[in-house]
Amino acid sequence: MFGYSGRILEVDLGNGDIHEFPLSIDLAEMFIGGLGLNTRLILNYLKPRVNPLSDENPIVLGVGPLVGAGVVGAVKAMATTKLPSTGTIATCSGGGGLAYAMKKAGYDHIVIRGASDKPVYIEVSDEDVRINDASSLWGLDAYETTCRLKKKHYGSSVLSIGEAGEKLISWSICLIDNISHLGRGGLAAVMGVKKLKAVVVYGGCKVKLANPEGVKSVLSRVRERIKRYSQLLKGIAKYGMMVGIGNWANSRMLVYNNYRSIHTKLRDGFLDEYLKIKVRSIGCPGCPGPCKGVFKINGLEKPLPEPLNIAIAFTLRLNDCSLSSGVKLLYEATRHGIDCLNLTPFLEFLVETYESSKLSIKDIGFKPELNVKSMEKLVEYMLKCEGICSYIRMSGWRGLFERFGLDLEKYAPNCKGLSIIFDPRSNFGAESFGHVTNPRGHEGPVQLTVISGRDENSIRKYLSRIGCSEDDVSKVFRNGLFNIALYTRHVEDWLYILNSLGLCRRESIALLYDIDTCAELYTYTTGIRIQPRDLKMAADRIHTLERLINCREGAGRDKYPDRWLEPLILDGQEIYLMDYFKRRMISRDDIEDFINQYYRERGWNTVNGFPTIERIRELKLADLNIQ
Ligand code: SF4
Repeated sequence: MFGYSGRILEVDLGNGDIHEFPLSIDLAEMFIGGLGLNTRLILNYLKPRVNPLSDENPIVLGVGPLVGAGVVGAVKAMATTKLPSTGTIATCSGGGGLAYAMKKAGYDHIVIRGASDKPVYIEVSDEDVRINDASSLWGLDAYETTCRLKKKHYGSSVLSIGEAGEKLISWSICLIDNISHLGRGGLAAVMGVKKLKAVVVYGGCKVKLANPEGVKSVLSRVRERIKRYSQLLKGIAKYGMMVGIGNWANSRMLVYNNYRSIHTKLRDGFLDEYLKIKVRSIGCPGCPGPCKGVFKINGLEKPLPEPLNIAIAFTLRLNDCSLSSGVKLLYEATRHGIDCLNLTPFLEFLVETYESSKLSIKDIGFKPELNVKSMEKLVEYMLKCEGICSYIRMSGWRGLFERFGLDLEKYAPNCKGLSIIFDPRSNFGAESFGHVTNPRGHEGPVQLTVISGRDENSIRKYLSRIGCSEDDVSKVFRNGLFNIALYTRHVEDWLYILNSLGLCRRESIALLYDIDTCAELYTYTTGIRIQPRDLKMAADRIHTLERLINCREGAGRDKYPDRWLEPLILDGQEIYLMDYFKRRMISRDDIEDFINQYYRERGWNTVNGFPTIERIRELKLADLNIQ
């Protein structure tokens, strides 16, 4: 096969069976690769309604056909599983070297089934696949685990978990090569239940291209775009995603105090101070705008996958947290494998519920305050699974509500169990409405409407660039209104195309591509002739398949937090939910109507979001017979 490695590896940790089978070309055409094929594959392995933290929950790792083809930014590995925080099937993406390494080892996908009874790691190379003893690694943090394994397996990429994953904490994440996260929603806990400390991948295989000259000519156009956007890319290379913090502040995105208040100003010299604690930028292989950084922490240089979290999870949310304290907190959370984007909202929730006498010190285990000391205490409690943290351990917010009652839900703004990152009262773009529609309540890196103030024309151009017809675009803006439901559907399709091809969705990379370029690259890489509309159709198919599986797993109509209908407070002024252009207020009925429109647009019924039989047939999913 061209582009694809053409092989899928299956490892059963329960009985030690290891075997491989060929990737079917028909499936590749229908589901592209990466996220798409992961979703199709998990259907074969996941029995209905299994507990995410049982040995029956499989993990599928996958990469897209552009990975290893020399395509700029084709570096993403995907992991699909049933996540413990959300209870849904969803796919998480991560950078670093894992995706390349899988292609070098000669695999497009790795399916991990069953559970070991002792700690292990999987070693995958082009010559052999082994399940190795990991007893000496169990109990180590994710950084140390990665360092030891990289030393032992020179030139490898390492996916590892920290203590949070080992202890089955549902708000846990994995690390790839110590420079990228993978698995918000509890992938690390799913590895933990399998006693799988790490996956180590390396090899020397090369990807064969169907038309190397074609790929070369498209990439020369991509390089022209890199030159055109050199200023922006230089900014990202210098500051990482922190480059956008000023825009986030202007767009009222820096929400704190448990989604009740907003910062709109950064203190003077914020970015200069940030550059003083940053040692250098790092990124995924060949990235023209590397977004990650190395920082000096406790006298040592340490990589951090998402430096923006220093500010948005710590420094701008705690009362006494300098940037250097924020770096230390982020490092502590990351090395143990705790998802800091849930950690801080959890502390804010504890402060609010404690102050309103809903929870006591006895319930929590300590007096919660919005400061560094309390945050350190919370991390300590989380890792010991003590106090309030014993309830969120295996099922996140759901565990807490089961113990203390659903009354507490209104103090915990979340979508499907993950805390909100993009508050729609600040900015009602696809990023915030996407919290509602995404199967894990979170889609990670963002697109055009993440900041406010884009004009209609630039959104229209963007929609054309990502594969919308003129009719699609005019529907988004019908009757002079901006329809967030239809807009979100198209943005989601674009992200699913990138995730299935293996391209990074961050601005540094996504702005270099459009749907025509993606279709050309796919065709020249794989030899499978595809049109842009086929890619869009495949994205729609993948969404609907994912939705079908989740409906089988118990998903119903999507929900959103009640707090979105309360005002945010800015300097004593109340900020209510408005449309993206801030022309009109958005009510509960409007949101419900947007959900209906989103479902209709996808061909799902409006009662519970189940795909209709007509849509299932249209997308050629009827043979799968999912019930
Ligand atoms: S933008 Fe960041 S995540 Fe994307 S390829 Fe570059 S370094 Fe990796």
